[in-house]
Amino acid sequence: GAGFPSHVKLKPPSSNPVDMLLLNGAECEPYITADHRQMVEHGREIVDGARIICRILGVNKCRIGIEANKPDALKIMSEAAEAVSNKHISIEVCALKTKYPQGSEKQLIQVLTDRKVPSMALPSSVGVVVHNVSTARAIYQAVIFNKPLYEKVVTVSGKGIERPANLLVKVGTKLSDIVEYLGGTKDSLARVIMGGPMMGFAVSNLNIPITKTTSAVLFLTEEEIDTKPHSQCIRCGWCLDACPMGLEPKEIGLYVEANRSEDTSQFGLFDCFECGSCAYVCPAKRPLVQFIRLAKMKAKR
Ligand code: SF4
Ligand code: SF4
Repeated sequence: GAGFPSHVKLKPPSSNPVDMLLLNGAECEPYITADHRQMVEHGREIVDGARIICRILGVNKCRIGIEANKPDALKIMSEAAEAVSNKHISIEVCALKTKYPQGSEKQLIQVLTDRKVPSMALPSSVGVVVHNVSTARAIYQAVIFNKPLYEKVVTVSGKGIERPANLLVKVGTKLSDIVEYLGGTKDSLARVIMGGPMMGFAVSNLNIPITKTTSAVLFLTEEEIDTKPHSQCIRCGWCLDACPMGLEPKEIGLYVEANRSEDTSQFGLFDCFECGSCAYVCPAKRPLVQFIRLAKMKAKR
């Protein structure tokens, strides 16, 4: 998933007893289908991974959240879950409304359990541990086959690549090798993004390697990206309405521009998980996520 160490999640603090495992199969960012393919092709391994995690955590309840726009994954995962559920363990697959950012940890916990994680707290504070479906599969492979995590399923997509695909690639593989394997890029390529279009970041060359946290590489053309320059905030408030955490991204942006990053924590800076919804709706095209990342960097110094 996002790179938080799995072994830490598997040992939640004893002060916060955990009673449920949640698996995140929402994969809500556009373009990305790596988890979707794994659920369709390796549903049983994911469910067996969930059983192993439940055993480690000492819990007997697991819920798997999958967006409703993936009916094939819902069907296969439900069948796999049913096949292993018994009086000792209950694994339930839940169809989630298709909306962004349904796959963010706090949103997922609330929709699957009706529990709300407090600001700056971990999921274990409300008795749950959340893993990604691909992490559950990796844990299954580590425990059953003694296989370290040295390869990943990565979505390579966008109109700027000749042959979009989900590929199983070794960690460390350079983007240039992936491009060569998929027939090269198109002349209309305008930007390469590591990650999804909402939360990913642009890269300037193809000598960059796939890491354990790479879920997608997007090759986007001019028509798929917004190149309009940003302008002044018109205080429309759309970013506030769009923020799933109820933060004030407009204020963070204005403070960063005024060189007052150190004063932005009052607007919930560290509760922001950089989903990009605020920047997406902003009519002034303000780079709100970049402002937020800058403010976090400065605040941590
Ligand atoms: S959406 Fe953009 S223009 Fe509107 S208040 Fe937020 S930052 Fe300002
Ligand atoms: S990126 Fe914007 S919308 Fe998303 S959590 Fe942060 S402030 Fe809220």
